[in-house]
Amino acid sequence: MTADAPFRQLRGRLKAQAPLAARSWFRSGGAADWLFVPQDAEDLASALRQCPPDMPVTVLGACSNVIIRDGGLPGLTIRLAGGFANIETNGDGLIAGAAALDSSVAETAAQAGMSGFAFLSTIPGSIGGAVCMNAGAYGGDMSSLLDWVDILTHEGFLQRLPASALKMQYRHSSLPEGSIVLRARLKAHGEEDPTAIQQTMQEMRASREASQPLRARTGGSTFRNPEGHKAWELIDAAGCRGLRHGGAQISEKHCNFMLNTGDATSTELEELGEMVRTRVLDKSGISLHWEIKRLGRLLSSASSS
Ligand SMILES: Cc1cc2nc3c(=O)[nH]c(=O)nc-3n(C[C@H](O)[C@H](O)[C@H](O)COP(=O)(O)OP(=O)(O)OC[C@H]3O[C@@H](n4cnc5c(N)ncnc54)[C@H](O)[C@@H]3O)c2cc1C
Repeated sequence: MTADAPFRQLRGRLKAQAPLAARSWFRSGGAADWLFVPQDAEDLASALRQCPPDMPVTVLGACSNVIIRDGGLPGLTIRLAGGFANIETNGDGLIAGAAALDSSVAETAAQAGMSGFAFLSTIPGSIGGAVCMNAGAYGGDMSSLLDWVDILTHEGFLQRLPASALKMQYRHSSLPEGSIVLRARLKAHGEEDPTAIQQTMQEMRASREASQPLRARTGGSTFRNPEGHKAWELIDAAGCRGLRHGGAQISEKHCNFMLNTGDATSTELEELGEMVRTRVLDKSGISLHWEIKRLGRLLSSASSS
């Protein structure tokens, strides 16, 4: 920590001008003004309470659904790590820390013979991100599992919210503005033979492998599916499959996925997405909406958006 750090007596790791590109699935983007990896919830609450009211706070999960802009993240960026990754079975469900990986949660549930979690084995994010995005696949999503969630408010106070308070919809939760998910209780749909669950998860993963560029530098689905349409079909029909802009490309394999083919900047990725939106609008009259969260400052801009 430097002498002019705006935080005192934190137990976790605080770093100024911390590069973030290596953390993002796209491998692009700038640095965090301040990156804090808290040791536990109390440590995080202490940082939030010390935050000047005008200082932006951003929380990152596994960065599998974000573009971190090239101008970096203003203010305080939080990364939840080991102290928030616990998973424990709990009656007819389990409690998972926000940093627990979705795949680990699915594996724990499978071993315990809990049904309803298999889809999580295909999503490369963390539970905090999954709650925030209402992540889903293969007909399941977080809204079908969530019982309650513990959050820290923007001001650093702990609250337990029932799932109903989050008003979860397709790839969206109404988390209180600026709040951080600490952990979530997920309730199983019922009991199922662990071997059968493992079989289902294997089939889901194989079908993923066949249809999505999983080993690429990508951010998952770029756009939400508009009501009654599939984003990839609209993108394909607009002639954007394989479209390139600098080092960014629309995947040939699944054209709702963007790729960093090597040295793409976040600006190029975002510009490519906007080119696709324009072409889809011209071709079909349908306006695509970003599913990927674009975080931070554009390179030329001093302000966040
Ligand atoms: C190859 C690939 C396949 C994918 N397939 C799917 C899929 O099938 N279905 C699907 O839904 N998604 C899919 N995704 C997208 C992504 O994995 C999910 O949206 C995931 O839930 C994001 O979690 P994350 O931890 O990576 O969140 P991040 O990408 O780090 O963050 C996403 C958002 O969540 C917020 N957030 C993260 N942690 C917290 C927290 N603790 N508290 C409050 N807010 C938080 C962030 O601020 C940000 O706004 C895919 C991505 C990739 C790369």
